[in-house]
Amino acid sequence: MTHHHQFRTIAQNELGYVGICASCRTVNVAFQNSLFCLTLDQFASFAEIMHDRLDMQPFCTTHGKELLLTTPMPNYFLLFTEDELDLFCELLTEGAPVLEAERILALNLMN
Ligand SMILES: [Zn+2]
Repeated sequence: MTHHHQFRTIAQNELGYVGICASCRTVNVAFQNSLFCLTLDQFASFAEIMHDRLDMQPFCTTHGKELLLTTPMPNYFLLFTEDELDLFCELLTEGAPVLEAERILALNLMN
């Protein structure tokens, strides 16, 4: 499926942004060099995973970045410092009300 992405930024800070494509309704969560592409329904649980550090394992080295998140790729992991994760969660929190409104609007359009 190809279409022109009408991208709308909802939240941003120095490390990333949250936005939504007005055409396909894909939510883009960009943080440093990671991009998470989510549906509106997936966003809330994704934010919860990050806020509550669910599925994260301690990864202690002398380099910091002590929170490890697994990915669907067996040999690829994401590492965060507590400070990075706080900034990430700020973005998600800032974007959440708008995305929740979008989700409810989409539900109403379907009914
Ligand atoms: Zn799109």
